[in-house]
Amino acid sequence: MKLKLTKIGKLVFVLLLLIIIFGLLFIYYKKDDIKSIHKIESNEFYDIKIDYEETGIEKIDKSIVEYVNDKKKEFIDIVDISGRVETSKYNLIVNVQNKEYNNLISVQATSFAYTGGAHYTREDKSFIYNTKINNYITFLDLLIDEDFDKIKPIILESLYNYAKDKKIILNEDWVNNGTKYSLENYELFYFNKEGLNIVFVPYQVASWADGEIIINIPYDKLKGIIKDEYLEGKLSTGIDLLPEQKPRDLEKYKDKLLIAFTFDDGPNKKTTTRLLEGIKEYDARVTFFVLGSRVENNKDVLIKAYTEGNQIGSHTYNHLNLLLLDDATVLSEINKTNEVIEKVIGKRPDLLRPPYGNINDNIKSLANMHIINWNIDTEDWKLKNREKIKENILKYARDGAIVLLHDIYTESVEGALLAMAELEKEGYAFVTIEEMIKLKGIDLDYSKTYYNF
Ligand code: ZN
Repeated sequence: MKLKLTKIGKLVFVLLLLIIIFGLLFIYYKKDDIKSIHKIESNEFYDIKIDYEETGIEKIDKSIVEYVNDKKKEFIDIVDISGRVETSKYNLIVNVQNKEYNNLISVQATSFAYTGGAHYTREDKSFIYNTKINNYITFLDLLIDEDFDKIKPIILESLYNYAKDKKIILNEDWVNNGTKYSLENYELFYFNKEGLNIVFVPYQVASWADGEIIINIPYDKLKGIIKDEYLEGKLSTGIDLLPEQKPRDLEKYKDKLLIAFTFDDGPNKKTTTRLLEGIKEYDARVTFFVLGSRVENNKDVLIKAYTEGNQIGSHTYNHLNLLLLDDATVLSEINKTNEVIEKVIGKRPDLLRPPYGNINDNIKSLANMHIINWNIDTEDWKLKNREKIKENILKYARDGAIVLLHDIYTESVEGALLAMAELEKEGYAFVTIEEMIKLKGIDLDYSKTYYNF
């Protein structure tokens, strides 16, 4: 039998095809529409920095935006009332991290507000969302028969092991209060390939100085206690190999003018990836000062940056003004970042760029890292215009310079690439900090702050 399409048949066929094409385009567009949000607001009284990624799930994104707006309003109200600048500028940092595993999206929002006095106040808020039932869940929802008594001894065991490991002395009353079941005590938990992780915020089970405590309970201990659907986990595909970085031969850059482009506040999937593609054209390698809070969500791009020969430094975990922190928090901001970077790329960073460039001798001795600031401030975050950013770089470029940029903005990345195209013609080579000091024969000193070489 021969199939013969009538005119109407053909029309229906074409229509169906169009519907499928537009449907796919719509899904693709939606996917690409998930945004990484970075907002900086700065005036003579305060600096506000907000950092989060949309999940693409309306319910969660709405909760995040509400949280961020509430914190901002609270902060600005206080600033308006007090109306004067202390010795340090007021400061609000809101970081939101999402972890996705085992059909759960765990959102951790942390805000740090400095509105005078000695220190920041920290506030944590979390939401756990199950993508299978499309709703929020609580810790009890993980447990078979909501039986908390069964998991409690395992939690305590993990907590005491953690304390022993980190040489923390736990106060029994604090532990009793901080581990008994309540929505507040068990607000933040997430799965990864190692098992279930429960986060205790500062002051919950230990002192402020001991920082945030994350205990991990392996899957084999959770059998018969948590529901099967959470036991499956996404098994890792073999052993995670640590990435390798091959140094390049520096001989051919010896007679060049050298300039180090540095990028703060990332990594960021879209814009950092674009930068990594773009710099290849100029045989460029750059230095990234990454935020610890952004590493987990952007592992792949960090690994790519590192394996392609770029240098990874630390910009601390939460981007707090280090001058406003007690020693224990300074250490945790620095160490947590070094640990999370080392876990992903296998190398502990030895360069630190303090947020806002703020540093003193005490922080230097606590950090025991090389402090790298800059001598070319492109003001890219304010300008948000590639031509102007390019011009700022070209105007101040000279041998040994360190350029400050942020790889979380498209205009900054494009501005940097435009500048590279011009500078290449003028005989510049684009090197990492490590390459720069090798080429110039400099030994870095821990007690110094470097602005250029
Ligand atoms: Zn920064």
